[in-house]
Amino acid sequence: MGVPLRQQLTVASYLMKQKIKGVKKYPLVLMLEPLFRCNLACAGCGKIDYPDEILDKRLSYEECMQAVDECGAPMVSIPGGEPLIHKDMPRIVEGIIARKKYVYLCTNALLLKKRIDDYKPSPYLTFSVHLDGLQERHDASVCQEGVFERAVEAIKLALGKGFRVTINCTLFQGENAEEVAEFLDYAMELGVEGVTIAPGFSYERAPQQDVFIKSRDVKELFRGIFKIGKTKRWKLNHSSLYLDFLAGNQAYECTPWGNPTRNVFGWQKPCYLLADEGNAASFKELIDTTPWHKYGNNQNPKCANCMAHCGYEATAVEDMLKNPLKGMLVSLFGPKTTGAMVPEPTPKAQETAKPTLAGIPIRVEAAD
Ligand code: SF4
Ligand code: SF4
Repeated sequence: MGVPLRQQLTVASYLMKQKIKGVKKYPLVLMLEPLFRCNLACAGCGKIDYPDEILDKRLSYEECMQAVDECGAPMVSIPGGEPLIHKDMPRIVEGIIARKKYVYLCTNALLLKKRIDDYKPSPYLTFSVHLDGLQERHDASVCQEGVFERAVEAIKLALGKGFRVTINCTLFQGENAEEVAEFLDYAMELGVEGVTIAPGFSYERAPQQDVFIKSRDVKELFRGIFKIGKTKRWKLNHSSLYLDFLAGNQAYECTPWGNPTRNVFGWQKPCYLLADEGNAASFKELIDTTPWHKYGNNQNPKCANCMAHCGYEATAVEDMLKNPLKGMLVSLFGPKTTGAMVPEPTPKAQETAKPTLAGIPIRVEAAD
């Protein structure tokens, strides 16, 4: 794991406090989406097809700070859209740092070179740069040539200036374990702190629907990656049990309240990925009024194939707390890469679910 000890201790102490207070549904990472506008149009993006009046909306500095304070999560991830487009982003980042929260500014890096001096290196600030693979793969994923090169240049610049930098990688159809392993080797050579890696979620709104990987294939892919990884020193920014889940060794229930989302519509129910389930006016209302039991890849057809960290990382962390020995063994020896996998989840029919065509995934993960 690449996360610095200081941050791990902050998160561990936050988790202990939630346990002592008996809080059942607590947030780990606030997903703060202050705008949906982006300067790219990736094939697997579910965030950018809104009409201009929505894409032109921004959460103000005050709204962002209110969301951070209301939620109380120790980490804040700022995806988008492209957050560097937001004129008040440096102030928003400063405000979050002043609250001693760890902020991950997720960017495709096209504007990073131009805007980097608006930010100061801090142990609380990490640039999380969107890279879905090596040059050919990434440029195809973001539907524009030359983006990989610019992102790598920006990563080197940010590292050179003393910023914490991670890579945020989303996997789509057509990947193989060797290719992903080569990419992870390259990421480590770049010197980033770690890589966040997850299968794309099939967004209904994504421009292309044939780019998403089915859950069983995801597990096979991750087993292949981890098999190669046994002799490597990759730093993946996930709990060991989430990686074990990706490899088909854990049957987890989704706990989307672990990564609540505040965007230009309000607090999005139930998670960052499902956009049409309604919004709450406050974090408390989100927690109190969302029908959480209706969601998860074993519950809802809209969640079919979802293995995203915003749904299952918090579940894995909770499992680590309950079963530390299991978590430690997976940390030491890596996820199991052979033998039977846990059964595939079968979503129950929902009264409110819209019918879908069999075999067609419903939606995808935003790459950043
Ligand atoms: S996936 Fe990220 S970089 Fe690509 S269009 Fe969507 S918000 Fe922009
Ligand atoms: S399974 Fe995925 S899409 Fe469904 S609620 Fe959980 S995180 Fe959201």
